[in-house]
Amino acid sequence: MNINADRLAAPSAGLPELSPEYDPWDPIRSLRRYGRHVLTSVEFTVSNLCNMRCEHCAVGYTLAMSEPEKLPIDLILKRLDEVEHLETISITGGEPSFSEKTVREYIVPLLKYARSRNLRSQLNSNLTLDYGRYEMIAPWLDVMHISYNYTSVEEFHRITFGASPHPPSRETAARLYERMVDNAQRLAKGGLFVSAESMINYRTHRDIVRIHRDIVEMGCRRHEVHPMYPSAFAASLPMLSRAEMAAAIEQLIEHRDPNVWMLFGTLPFYACSPDPEERRLARRLAETEGVTVRNDPDGRNRLNVNVFTGDVFVTDFADVPAFGNIREERLDDIFAKWLNGPLARSVNCHCPEAGCCGPNLLVKSMYYADVDFTTRRALADA
Ligand code: SF4
Repeated sequence: MNINADRLAAPSAGLPELSPEYDPWDPIRSLRRYGRHVLTSVEFTVSNLCNMRCEHCAVGYTLAMSEPEKLPIDLILKRLDEVEHLETISITGGEPSFSEKTVREYIVPLLKYARSRNLRSQLNSNLTLDYGRYEMIAPWLDVMHISYNYTSVEEFHRITFGASPHPPSRETAARLYERMVDNAQRLAKGGLFVSAESMINYRTHRDIVRIHRDIVEMGCRRHEVHPMYPSAFAASLPMLSRAEMAAAIEQLIEHRDPNVWMLFGTLPFYACSPDPEERRLARRLAETEGVTVRNDPDGRNRLNVNVFTGDVFVTDFADVPAFGNIREERLDDIFAKWLNGPLARSVNCHCPEAGCCGPNLLVKSMYYADVDFTTRRALADA
């Protein structure tokens, strides 16, 4: 099958193109529209398999060599049908496309469902498998989301097999790296919106501008940047200070390609910060054209569904236990239950003047364990 460039480039009927002005994954949009948080986004974990073992993998301990049966796709689609305000779906893993059967029986039906309901879709992939695997998916997909944190093949080898007890040879890793870059370029040329995510961590913070340039060269339309947080495999890696993180972000804003959308997420800098430098950075991010800071979707407009068990989580990688199951309950009901719980309430603040609806749970527990955000407000100079 050849990629139909026109079709891939076309947004779902009647919807604007994804852009810094239109990011349907940002929960601030639905909060403004409905005056409360509503479920607009569902993420599915469709695979526990992966051909890599990245040192920073946020779901590392769930990766397996074989998988149990999945719930019937009809049940999953029925549960989606019931979500009243649904706008986006995301598909994640492991490597979601690792098994071709999963692509045929789950990924493509989910994406076709999204198109039929005019929803936007995203697939999180490492893009290291044969191009044909992604060609099956691309015609139905809005965003191909990849991770990119490398400045050389050697780094790719070290990082992407950093948690593997039996890493492959450098040559094998080099082939995977080249395939990932080639697949990203081909998909981007075919009109698909490819978004590359980098994490700011102890390895990348000094090289983040160089990483940005590589991402631009691959043809990605968006560079997504998040701090690395201590989840699963990443828990054993050294953490950066907020000051080091801020310095890397300033570098990126300074030297970025202005034609590529820079999307920051889960940052620990807020308009209510008592530190004027952090408020200045929050303001700079908000005011720079082509740069956005996405409010954290996890538990605000999005839930994660594990398609093997039906369990529903606030996100695929949090330590928070499941608080519902789609075998028995509707997703809107599970979401209402979550919102009324103490954890969701502990970060449920909103400062409309700053376009902010509160910190990510991991960010709060890491940097602000003792801060009650529900009593804070954006400060006037932010
Ligand atoms: S919404 Fe919360 S985190 Fe954001 S500025 Fe206001 S108080 Fe701070």
